[in-house]
Amino acid sequence: MKAEYDIIVIGAGLSSLMFLSKMVSNKSKLSILVLEQKNSINRNQSFCVWEGPGLINIEKEFKLKAKHRWDKVLIENNRKKIKKNIHPYQYVCHDGQSTLKKLSRQLNAKVKILYASKVTRINEIDEKIQVTSSEGNFCSKYLIDSRPKIEKNEIKSDYMQQAFIGNEIEVKSNYFNKDEATIMSFSKNKTETEFIYQLPFTKKRALVETTLFSKNPDLRKLQQKHKINLKKYGNYKVLNSERGIIPMALIEASANKRIMKIGTSAGMVRASSGYSMRKIANWISDHKGKTIKKNNLLSFKYAPNPLLDFFDKIFLRVIKDYPNKSPDLFFNLFNQSNHKSLIKFLSDKPSWLDIINIIMSMPKRLMLKGLLKKK
Ligand SMILES: Cc1cc2nc3c(=O)[nH]c(=O)nc-3n(C[C@H](O)[C@H](O)[C@H](O)COP(=O)(O)OP(=O)(O)OC[C@H]3O[C@@H](n4cnc5c(N)ncnc54)[C@H](O)[C@@H]3O)c2cc1C
Repeated sequence: MKAEYDIIVIGAGLSSLMFLSKMVSNKSKLSILVLEQKNSINRNQSFCVWEGPGLINIEKEFKLKAKHRWDKVLIENNRKKIKKNIHPYQYVCHDGQSTLKKLSRQLNAKVKILYASKVTRINEIDEKIQVTSSEGNFCSKYLIDSRPKIEKNEIKSDYMQQAFIGNEIEVKSNYFNKDEATIMSFSKNKTETEFIYQLPFTKKRALVETTLFSKNPDLRKLQQKHKINLKKYGNYKVLNSERGIIPMALIEASANKRIMKIGTSAGMVRASSGYSMRKIANWISDHKGKTIKKNNLLSFKYAPNPLLDFFDKIFLRVIKDYPNKSPDLFFNLFNQSNHKSLIKFLSDKPSWLDIINIIMSMPKRLMLKGLLKKK
């Protein structure tokens, strides 16, 4: 196998596959090697996004096929329930495994993915980058790095982590309404923000997740809570499991002349929600019409939206310091804002009018306290 490439990419995950599938033209002569530590594309998770006017149609743009879409979304707090018909928007779920598979099949033949090769070291020497991996040593002129954690360093958050444990379950009776997604159903918890997320795919099948926004999430306790939450579904069969801890952090994308970070470690995960697919799609669309060439890699460096980061900071401070107020905060925001403005805001594409609408739907005193806090 060749040891020298124009570009080496670390990780065959969401950001690198979405990026390479759009940005490496079929005519490109660049040699690209992707080093992925896993043995294959094996992803027990879903990628959910909001879709609708003013947002790039991810399914169309990236030639993907959604698993399910919902026109109605629900939020519940303290026995109060709001159900919103979000037309002309939809909440759309993509299956993780088939999404990554589809994206990898769209790659130019020159892009080689080497699985089971964990990168352990990178070294910049003169004009080259040496990459040490479990499958051998490689060398390139440029490096795209999508590792969410670099060696032993986890991404830290000044605020909280989002931890979740979920199962796709099947029940015997027609329990679910497949047209309604429950985005947040809050549980009583005075010290952390805790809720159930329920995505029904059929009358009998749904993804049920127990989620926690916490400074220091305890996965063992969360697992116990999740088990209790699942009891309400009676007899069920577990079809799939997913779990994760996502830092609710504002991360600055770093890049030098030859190395560009992408994905989680470049700030492509929305700090307040833990979602990244929409941010990645927006980033790629900002470079529409361009393809990777020799010497233009750095022009793709991710640029955050300072205004949205500013709002996220205030929001995160508030839910970190006043977790007992957080269910009311989400509930009222969802209840009082115009759903079109809220969805565009959550998808990083709000207009000024949308932002004003969101500000008007927030509790002013609480937000002011968040604004005045240092961290
Ligand atoms: C269970 C779960 C559910 C989620 N649901 C949603 C959702 O509904 N909507 C949404 O928008 N986002 C969701 N997210 C967030 C989203 O999945 C991630 O933010 C997204 O995958 C980030 O893309 P990425 O490329 O940064 O990281 P990844 O997709 O994780 O890709 C990084 C890749 O690098 C590989 N890698 C890491 N270290 C090395 C190494 N040393 N050598 C070689 N390879 C390496 C990893 O194996 C991985 O394949 C979810 C996350 C989880 C965990």
